[in-house]
Amino acid sequence: MSPPDLDAFRGQCRAFLEQHAAGSAPYGLEEDPRGGAALTVARDFQHKRFDAGLAGLTIPREYGGQGLGPDHERVWREEAGRYHLMTEELSISLGNCLPVILEFGTDIQKRRHVQAAISGRQVFCQLFSEPEAGSDVASVRTRATPDGDGWRVTGQKVWTTLAHVAEYGIVLARTDPSASKHGGLTMFIVDFHQAGVEIRPIHQIDGGMHFNEVFFDDVVLDADAVIGPVGEGWRVATAMMRHQRVARGTGQASGILHEHADRLIAEARARGRNEDPPLRQELAALYTAEVCRSLVALRTRAALDAGQPPGPGGSLPKLAGALIGARFRDLAFEVVGPEAVAWEADSGGDWARDALFMVSLSISGGTSEIQRNIIGERVLELPREPRSPG
Ligand SMILES: Cc1cc2nc3c(=O)[nH]c(=O)nc-3n(C[C@H](O)[C@H](O)[C@H](O)COP(=O)(O)OP(=O)(O)OC[C@H]3O[C@@H](n4cnc5c(N)ncnc54)[C@H](O)[C@@H]3O)c2cc1C
Repeated sequence: MSPPDLDAFRGQCRAFLEQHAAGSAPYGLEEDPRGGAALTVARDFQHKRFDAGLAGLTIPREYGGQGLGPDHERVWREEAGRYHLMTEELSISLGNCLPVILEFGTDIQKRRHVQAAISGRQVFCQLFSEPEAGSDVASVRTRATPDGDGWRVTGQKVWTTLAHVAEYGIVLARTDPSASKHGGLTMFIVDFHQAGVEIRPIHQIDGGMHFNEVFFDDVVLDADAVIGPVGEGWRVATAMMRHQRVARGTGQASGILHEHADRLIAEARARGRNEDPPLRQELAALYTAEVCRSLVALRTRAALDAGQPPGPGGSLPKLAGALIGARFRDLAFEVVGPEAVAWEADSGGDWARDALFMVSLSISGGTSEIQRNIIGERVLELPREPRSPG
């Protein structure tokens, strides 16, 4: 069957989005602190997208995708970029985990998980971070020991986004303590309904509870829970981090976006502050930064569409997103004034929560310092930072 003509496909995307995405609004943290309601909406939207033949566009048909090329993916992004898509809660599942299953999974794993993930039936989360392993992920202490044909896993993960509502986690664990720090690791797909998995919420400063501590107490896994070769978990993990940075840096949309600047410019107008020259300059700088970030993100996307694997350049839009978040936060206080710190602002802006949330952009998915190291060493090819032994 030949792929649909791009114009016809664009019409199909438009009609679908008009019917299912128009007018959608995100949940506020107050009404949905654990993110469960937002995830249900995301699953439902993704399921409809799958039924309409618009999910997993570039994924092979044998695994439930549409088997189309990057042009169709681009058209979807261009059209979807006009809407708030309600799929933010699926970004780790589809942006970080799914590409790793496609790249490293066995045929059985792909048949088990790919279609279920792209239709929103299975949600995956990422379990790298531990109390003693954040930026230095390879320091993980969670142990997986061989047990018959399978494995037993014991340890603790932390900051696991949406673990409480996900079906599966992709877990980095130490399988050979006698090997080098990076050499003794293996990656696993863990079913969260398994005995011995305990999930406890972490309360965030902005009032949400989207992430968790996850404890594994002698969790029994079959041999086919391993994803990628045993002992090569570091290779799988670094691939996942590259996908994560690209997913974070480029988002789900395509095109030139400047939503933070737009929001503050509208607020400045409403408050009669849009004639203030220094403030205008700051707003223009935020607008410019957002446009530049969009252009870098488009370039990153175009490289992927041209078949290049995700590389260190994904750190550029990721870092830019964190810097824009910080600039937005500071400017919001300037535009709104003291009212912005009120927890239940009657300005309808939720400025205080947003300001606190913006801080997380410089930490989640790898801190800004780590992105700077990657850009310095791997994009600009500057001398390497000293490394911890391992
Ligand atoms: C909202 C949010 C969601 C998250 N979701 C997940 C998730 O789903 N799964 C998951 O596994 N993790 C998740 N994380 C955890 C996140 O990946 C880690 O917090 C992050 O990698 C930093 O690790 P850390 O907190 O241990 O800080 P550390 O690594 O201890 O860093 C502390 C400080 O030291 C700096 N630093 C560390 N090493 C260097 C270096 N080599 N050079 C320069 N500076 C350095 C860091 O930049 C930081 O400022 C999430 C975090 C947040 C905020």
